Amino acid sequence: MIQTKGYAAKSATTPLEPWNFERREVGAKDVHIKILYCGVCHSDIHFARSEWFPTNYPLVPGHEIVGKVLEVGNDVTKYNVGDTVGVGCLVDSCHSCPSCEAGQEQFCAEGMIGTYGSQERGKETFTQGGYSDQIVVDEHFVLRIPENLPLDKVAPLLCAGITTYSPIMRWRMGEGDKVAVLGLGGLGHMAVKIASSLGAEVTMLSTSPEKEKDAKKLGATNFVLTTNEEQFKKYTGYFNFIINTVSAQHDYNKYMQLLGVNGVMVCLGVPPVPTPVHAMSLVMGNKTIQGSLIGGLEETQEMLDYCGLNNITSDVEVIPIDKINEAFDKTIAGDVHYRFVIDMATLK
Ligand code: NAP
Ligand code: ZN
Repeated sequence: MIQTKGYAAKSATTPLEPWNFERREVGAKDVHIKILYCGVCHSDIHFARSEWFPTNYPLVPGHEIVGKVLEVGNDVTKYNVGDTVGVGCLVDSCHSCPSCEAGQEQFCAEGMIGTYGSQERGKETFTQGGYSDQIVVDEHFVLRIPENLPLDKVAPLLCAGITTYSPIMRWRMGEGDKVAVLGLGGLGHMAVKIASSLGAEVTMLSTSPEKEKDAKKLGATNFVLTTNEEQFKKYTGYFNFIINTVSAQHDYNKYMQLLGVNGVMVCLGVPPVPTPVHAMSLVMGNKTIQGSLIGGLEETQEMLDYCGLNNITSDVEVIPIDKINEAFDKTIAGDVHYRFVIDMATLK
C-alpha cells in the first residue's frame, strides 16, 4: 500500500484536519501521480458537510487535481514518468454500458466512481480525493495538460472548466447568442470566459455589486445586480440561455422570466434544498430547464486542449493547505477571486 498524507473531514460539523491513509499499489493500468495543485470546488464543501446525502467519513475532498506522473503500471500506454497530468471528478466506471461507450462515464449504469466519497468497485473502501500528496488512478481517467498553461491556474479546469464547457458546447452557444451567467464564483467565472471566447454576448447576473469590474474583465458585456429590481426588469425576455451556477437556495422562477421564447436555463449549481419550479415559468415561452453534470473523459480532454489553444485558465488564489477551513468559509461567503487552489507543496 502507498502511505499518503492528506486533509480530511471526519464529520459534517468539524473542520478538515491532517489525516494519513493508504492508497492501493500501482496496478497494471494505473498511473501514480504526485499532486502539485488541487482546486477547491463548492461541491467539496457540500460533500464534506453532508449537504447532499450522508457522506462516509473520513473524507478527503478535491477533484481539481494537477500533478506529475511518478510511476506507471506495466500496461499503461498513454502516460510516461514525468508527464504533467490532471484528474477531475471521475476515477472509475464499468467501461461497457451504453453511457460509458458513449464517452459519458459520469452516467455509468453501474454508478460512476467519483474521485472522493465513492465506494470503490468490488471493494469495501471509499475513494479519497486531491487534498493529498499523491493519487493512483486508472489511465483512462487521467488527462493530459497542455504545456503552455500555468499549473495552478489549470487545476480548476478539471471540474469548473468541464462543467461549464460541456453545456456551452452542447447548446452551441456562440455568436449571436445572449448568454447570462448566474453567480460569479468558480463555475461562473469559467462560464463567462468560455462563452465569451466563442463569441456569445455574456451578461453577468450577480448578487455582489463589487464583482462588476471583474465580470467585465473576464469577458462579460453587461452586469446585472439581481437585487436591483429596476436593472433586473430591463432584461425581461432578453436571453437565449442562462447558465445557473448558484450553490444556495434561490427562486428559479424569478430568473426564468429573463429568458426569451425557447430560452434554456442550464442548471449546474446543486443547492442542498429543493425549490419549486412553477409550470407557468416553462409554458410561457416554451422554455426548458436542463441539468448538466461535469463531462466525460473525452470531452474533458477536448476542453483542456481548447483552453490550451485559446489560453484560457482560471483566476485563482493559491493557498497553503492549512488555510483550507478558512477557504471553505470564504467560498460560502462569495469572497474568492475566483477559485482557491491548494499548493500541495505546503502539505508536510
Ligand atoms: P462558488 O464558487 O461558491 O460560486 C457560487 C456563486 O453563487 C457565488 O459566488 C454567488 O455569486 C452565487 N450565490 C451564492 N449564494 C447565492 C444565493 N443565495 N443567491 C444567489 N446567488 C448566490 O461555487 P462553485 O464552485 O462555482 O459551484 C457552484 C455550484 O455548482 C455548487 O452547488 C456546486 O456543488 C455545483 N457544481 C455542480 C457541478 C455539476 O456537474 N453540475 C460541478 C461542479 C460544481 P454572486 O456573488 O455573483 O451572486
Ligand atoms: Zn467540482
